[in-house]
Amino acid sequence: MSWSFQVGRLFGIPLRVHITFLLLLAFIVWADSHSGQDMVAGLIGAGYIAALFACVVLHELGHSLVARKYGVKVTHILLLPIGGVSMMERIPDDPKQEFRIAIVGPLVSIGIGVLIGLILLATQQPLMPPPGDLLSGSGFLAKLASINIFLAFFNLLPAFPMDGGRVLRSFLAQKMDYMAATHVAVAIGQGMAVLFAFLGIFANPWLLLIAFFIFLGAGQEEQQVQVRRLLRSVPVGNAMASQFATMQPDEPLGRAVEEAMAGYQQDFPVVEGGEVVGIASRDVLMAGLYERGAATPLRDVMLTQFCTARKEDSLADLYDQMSHQGCQIVVVTDETHPVGLLTPERVVQYLRYLAQHPSKGEG
Ligand code: ZN
Repeated sequence: MSWSFQVGRLFGIPLRVHITFLLLLAFIVWADSHSGQDMVAGLIGAGYIAALFACVVLHELGHSLVARKYGVKVTHILLLPIGGVSMMERIPDDPKQEFRIAIVGPLVSIGIGVLIGLILLATQQPLMPPPGDLLSGSGFLAKLASINIFLAFFNLLPAFPMDGGRVLRSFLAQKMDYMAATHVAVAIGQGMAVLFAFLGIFANPWLLLIAFFIFLGAGQEEQQVQVRRLLRSVPVGNAMASQFATMQPDEPLGRAVEEAMAGYQQDFPVVEGGEVVGIASRDVLMAGLYERGAATPLRDVMLTQFCTARKEDSLADLYDQMSHQGCQIVVVTDETHPVGLLTPERVVQYLRYLAQHPSKGEG
């Protein structure tokens, strides 16, 4: 379960909302209705949050569209209570591209803030309304403008993997090795996260949550960079398992389970006429046997959605794809015939092997 669901598409990019985001909205409405405010104030409060997150979506759309310009696939934009994330299949190794992708988000936020400010000036409304004044139209707009400016500068703090941290890495990467640049950016980012957490305890619990995400995210990205570096010149064919059993779609489940239990193999390509038509994992087989009986043909329970790759594809790219699409198994095909299998565990094993035999990676 991914804990998020799609609410629409923008420029072909799916927009997903995390369940916790709805909990936040529900909490705000609940808090407003219990604070003695009237219904209208509660609705305006919810409208303000909706407008704020529309601005966050525009910020993320900025990142996504520039990334797409550089050929990076954006799988979706995800809205979380702490803000938005553009989920990209990879981050470009080219520092100039990373810089442009990172900087455009804060620029969009500043642009929104300035635009609203100009509208207020042109209509002779105050830029600094009395605090808490959301009920007048200009108070609503002025608050939205200032929060956009605030968000732009907050995102520009050098807390990798936030935008400012990426800008920092892109500068460092032009002066030093990419991995060393990442290491410095991650160290600074994690230092900032500790600072945020400390401030969060005393000032604002949201900061604590943000600190947690920055700390984890920074560590994960450093690991990804190390993995990419190790796998960069390795073709998929070097790491795949090339000896494996296959099954046939008409095979009864009872026999398939016996076959699966007789060996070590966990996942079986289901092949018909030389072509892979599905995947049967041990879990799928066992669940099918339990629910539908031994005589059921494999065809009825096999998974028909699975990831595929070619032997000559880059393992680094495939590994990114596996972690973003949650591929538990990849069928390596030559035209349509299966020639290998690859699982995330196998890639990790291969990485350990490479770490000990670095010269073996060149393919
Ligand atoms: Zn951003």
